[in-house]
Amino acid sequence: MRKNIVAGNWKMNTDLADTQELIGGLKSIAKTSDAEIIIAPPFTNLYSAFEALKGAGIEVAAQNMHQSTSGAFTGEISASMLKGVGVKTVILGHSERRAYFEEKEDLLAEKVNTALENDMKVIYCFGEELKDRNFSEHFEVVNKQISQALFHLDADAWKHIILAYEPVWAIGTGETASPDQAQEMHAFIRKTIADEYSQEVADSVTVLYGGSVKPANAKEIFSKPDVDGGLIGGASLKAEDFMAIVNAF
Ligand code: PEP
Repeated sequence: MRKNIVAGNWKMNTDLADTQELIGGLKSIAKTSDAEIIIAPPFTNLYSAFEALKGAGIEVAAQNMHQSTSGAFTGEISASMLKGVGVKTVILGHSERRAYFEEKEDLLAEKVNTALENDMKVIYCFGEELKDRNFSEHFEVVNKQISQALFHLDADAWKHIILAYEPVWAIGTGETASPDQAQEMHAFIRKTIADEYSQEVADSVTVLYGGSVKPANAKEIFSKPDVDGGLIGGASLKAEDFMAIVNAF
């Protein structure tokens, strides 16, 4: 049985005080939900978040990581640095990393390998742009984003992979894929994995939807059979909204 997960991507928001305040508001939710809960604060607040959430049943993830284990990479953060502050999960391939930092599948494959070599879990994000959907190329684009970054892995490694389908046109725009559009793509993703590996691998991987999920639409999106939760941006910055989304399961 695959896990339901709701993850909050705080992006470049929240200073230390905001982090403590937001965590204060979130601490009660894990106890009321069957879903696994993850938050991804900025690097500077990972340690304080990890310390503040000890025993609360909420996991802390990083929003990015460098592919090398150490070295002369000024300004970068390695897997062992993350693990040293209690972080065992990393978001890779977010559309903002792809758009503003030109991260592509070959680099992301390296980052995935480094994360797995360091016993970390990966939330691998991908999704088409509006032009891809308008040209009916969205399935092809998603297939490439998954296969080129992940299909070198052996079947066993998929236990440590969480997928997050995030259509770029729905991120931070207020526009959401309809529950049927999300289900259609999630079913395609699962079939793509089943064709490459096995139905067992496909059925056991958690596939999250991301893109303007909010309390008002979470229940309907999460009710779709191949949608196993959400990666939440804007709405994860308000404790009551994030709690409502978590409790939509
Ligand atoms: C995201 O950044 O992963 C995201 C889904 O953002 P939002 O919920 O704000 O659309």
